[in-house]
Amino acid sequence: MMTILHPILFVGAGPGDPELITVKGLKALQMADLVVYAGSLVNPALLDELPQGAEAIDSASLTLEQVMENMIPAVRAGKRVVRLHTGDPGLYGAIQEQMEVLDREQIPYLVIPGVTAAFAAAASLCQELTLPEVSQTLVLTRAAGRTPVPEREQLRRLAANGGTLCLYLSVGLLDRVIPDLLAGGAFTEATPVAVVYRASWPDEVSLLGTLEDIREKVADAGITRQALVLVGEVLNARNRGVSHKSRLYAADFTHGFREGQPE
Ligand code: SAH
Repeated sequence: MMTILHPILFVGAGPGDPELITVKGLKALQMADLVVYAGSLVNPALLDELPQGAEAIDSASLTLEQVMENMIPAVRAGKRVVRLHTGDPGLYGAIQEQMEVLDREQIPYLVIPGVTAAFAAAASLCQELTLPEVSQTLVLTRAAGRTPVPEREQLRRLAANGGTLCLYLSVGLLDRVIPDLLAGGAFTEATPVAVVYRASWPDEVSLLGTLEDIREKVADAGITRQALVLVGEVLNARNRGVSHKSRLYAADFTHGFREGQPE
């Protein structure tokens, strides 16, 4: 009898709150025979969704080879395998290298997206990341750590346009990050910064400051990892009391769904 090969599902677990996984991702967990999950940031409460008898393996201490050695025989035996990644699998998720192995092995796979940490942090702050005439751009990036960043993407270059920046994997590198952000020329020491630790988890912490004082606030709070750094004038809009109304809902603005009225 031919064994049916179920595609491996790369699922975004979301930022932490188990209710922030997608409906599709949740259904995948509820049908899984094997889940290999990134234990450092995936909320273990999600594993309660697995059917009885399903197996869960934490990938935190495994190598790529070991992850694949767990998943491939299971798929070949007809099992439903979920690879559960934090946030969205497409950002700093190391999924490409797994897919390359699966391509070689001719094993099918699909990706189910997730809520990335940047949007969980923005939600925690009740903050719109794009405001008319302040910034219409969001850059998702990181400081170079053990993983290098291509030269043309150095922080000072990305910071030079003054748009909103969101830094993953960088809260422990602020000594280097802050001078780089200032060197771009668009930001100043007064530019607002938010650091959100474990967005959407019960022990979440948000710190608000500026490029001048955020380093000290982060050090005082003892935050060295699992945090996101947001930078840009959008974070100041509320304080300044300036209105940033969008054109979309302006009374005199005509678009496909509404005829504008002259003011
Ligand atoms: N794929 C993930 C990112 C993995 S890289 C995503 O889309 O969110 C891991 C980094 O993501 C952490 O170092 C931290 O910078 C950020 N991160 C992940 N979850 C977070 C959370 N709940 N709150 C704040 N930052 C988080």
